Amino acid sequence: MQPGSFLEATRHGGYSMAQYNVSFLCSDCGRFHQTKISLTLFDGPDRLKRLGEVYTPNALPSEVPQLLQKHVRCPVTRNSVKLDDNKLYLVPIDKD
Ligand SMILES: [Zn+2]
Repeated sequence: MQPGSFLEATRHGGYSMAQYNVSFLCSDCGRFHQTKISLTLFDGPDRLKRLGEVYTPNALPSEVPQLLQKHVRCPVTRNSVKLDDNKLYLVPIDKD
């Protein structure tokens, strides 16, 4: 088997892998803002979904608890916002 051919097979093997950006619903301005975290899911939802509806707390990707530990800055109001997992959403990334 050539290197890369397994990946190629996966891609064409009927699995639907989708990429998502982790976004948060900003308590300061009420909009969604993207974080730097993107995740790939098998058979993930095709539209925006709450992170907690997709992952059980035990199965959260390790980036997420790290994100919750720090404040982020709202790009609209410039205020710092404290995140909690109820505010986190998965937003599908368009492949095109
Ligand atoms: Zn905001």
